[in-house]
Amino acid sequence: PSKYRGKKVVVLGLARSGVAAAKFFHEIGAQVIVNDRKSRETSPEADELEALGISVVCGGHPPDLISGDTVLVVKNPGIPYTAPPLVQAVEQGVEVVTEVEVAYRICKAPIIGITGSNGKTTTTTLVGLMLEEDKLQPIVAGNIGRALIEAAAEASPDHWMVVELSSFQLKGTHEFRPAIAALLNVYETHLDYHGSMEDYTASKAKLFANQTQEDKAILNADHPVCQSLVHTSQAQVMLFSRQKVLDHGVYLSKDGVLTYRDKDGNVQPILPAKELGIRGSHNIENALAASAIALCAGASAEAIAKVLREFRGVEHRLEFVSRHGGVSFYNDSKATNPAATTKSVEAFDKKIILIAGGLDRGSDYSELLPLLKSHVKAIVTLGETREKINRVAREAGLSAVETVDTANSAEAIREAVQAAVRLAGEEDIVLLSPACASWDMFPSYEERGRMFKESVHNL
Ligand code: ADP
Repeated sequence: PSKYRGKKVVVLGLARSGVAAAKFFHEIGAQVIVNDRKSRETSPEADELEALGISVVCGGHPPDLISGDTVLVVKNPGIPYTAPPLVQAVEQGVEVVTEVEVAYRICKAPIIGITGSNGKTTTTTLVGLMLEEDKLQPIVAGNIGRALIEAAAEASPDHWMVVELSSFQLKGTHEFRPAIAALLNVYETHLDYHGSMEDYTASKAKLFANQTQEDKAILNADHPVCQSLVHTSQAQVMLFSRQKVLDHGVYLSKDGVLTYRDKDGNVQPILPAKELGIRGSHNIENALAASAIALCAGASAEAIAKVLREFRGVEHRLEFVSRHGGVSFYNDSKATNPAATTKSVEAFDKKIILIAGGLDRGSDYSELLPLLKSHVKAIVTLGETREKINRVAREAGLSAVETVDTANSAEAIREAVQAAVRLAGEEDIVLLSPACASWDMFPSYEERGRMFKESVHNL
């Protein structure tokens, strides 16, 4: 940190991680400028930072922001590299990183980094609970929990820093080297930001780039992208698999038991999958991955099994809301891509009534065609992608297709719930699993999920 004392550091983006980064660099004596394109009125954090003596510029990017004496730019993961200050920084040879890289450089605790297209939050939460159960002192941070940089500043070598990482965060790392790194899966998603599947998978692969043979890499044996990393990884690889029995790793046995087999071939059953507290084949994968990670960090099979049995899932992920007139309602607002929705819908053993649609990121919804044919009896669509999804639904032969055209978010979700109720019969299941991000109508997926739950409770 001392190399930044008295030097100019630009923090781009005033979200939680930006605020934490600004405070950190201010405390170590850097000359910090925080910049956000958003207006001052929508940036309540600005006052807090200015009160500390940090300069904050809102409402646009000033042309001279990245001047010759800037030594570092810490960018919010969501800001594209085409933003003018980033283009400028790259041209001038100024280092551009995300908060994760800075946190890594100051963190005294070993880091567990968890990434993947889907299942990150569930797996990260499970790992935190498993390590906690065995008193291994986890600190859960990153995309969930506290800002990583803030947590990292307090961590000691006795802690485990358990970090959920997005590909956006990983793209802005250089030296980042987790002691345990896990890639859960890679699905075609976030392509608007990354531009291509190659760029997206390259960002995920950065998680392993600096690992050495002292480190551990946890990879999904059922996914081709993970398989290719097995060959390039410098770390000790531990695989997990739902589909095949492994020579070494954590897998689902033929008779449905989550099982660990060590390097010497010793086999240890962890828990029958039917005793898992969370449902769906995707959650079996998350449970396998979390078990592999926790085992690598030194947790016992007993602690792991206890957590897997008791954990009931994270809010907005296949969350049971209530029963109303014989119909069960589930909130899966966090399913923000077709792959996630597919897994969630498949978790039910009968055809469901699906509420879907949201921000149009150019995903190909024809991916949903087989699912709509085999697992969905009726669909209600809303948001920007409603017509696109309707087309696929009709192609799938669904006759019960209802569309909500209302632009007001609260009203739209209420209308969607009412339409689903009209379509539902006794013992039916209504699932909000949008297959899209929420930002076309809602401030966040959490808000979308909360509004859905409120509409259900108000029925
Ligand atoms: P993330 O943090 O990566 O978005 P979450 O654990 O929050 O993942 O789960 C979000 C949604 O993704 C879930 O509601 C489910 O639909 C889907 N999902 C979760 N885990 C997996 C998995 N391992 N494989 C595929 N889809 C998954």
